Amino acid sequence: MGSRNRRASPAAHPSPAYLNSFSLAVKDSDCVRFKQQLIELRDELLRTEQAGSEGAKTVELDQSRVGRLSRMDALQAQAMSLDAERRRRLTIRRAEAALTRIENGEFGLCVRCEEEINPKRLELDPTTPLCIDCANKEEK
Ligand SMILES: [Zn+2]
Repeated sequence: MGSRNRRASPAAHPSPAYLNSFSLAVKDSDCVRFKQQLIELRDELLRTEQAGSEGAKTVELDQSRVGRLSRMDALQAQAMSLDAERRRRLTIRRAEAALTRIENGEFGLCVRCEEEINPKRLELDPTTPLCIDCANKEEK
C-alpha cells in the first residue's frame, strides 16, 4: 500500500511524435485502427462467401422443381449473386492489398502517383488504393 504518493509522469507531456503526422500520410495509431477495420472487413466477407456458395447450390436444386418463369427468376437471382460474389472477391483482394501496404509502411499513399490519399477518403473506404484524382481518371 505504499503507492499512495507515487505519481505517474505528467499526462500532458508533449510528444514530438505528433510532428510526424505532417510528414506521414497516416499516423501509426490510425494505421492500427485501419488494420483492425480491414481485417474485420475481410473476415466478414470471407464468411459471407462461404455462406453464399451454399446459397448458389440451393438455386440449382430449385431449378428442377420450378416452372420456366421461376427458372428465369432463379437464373437472374444467380446472375445477381455472381455479380455480388465478384464484387466481394474484389473487396477482399483490395483489403488484403491494403493490409500489405500497412505492413510495408505505404498505406495512405496512392499506388499510382504516390501522393497522399485524403484521410477522409480512407475513412470512407480504407481499401482504396488510389487518390481521388487517379480514381477519377480510372473511371473515365
Ligand atoms: Zn494518385
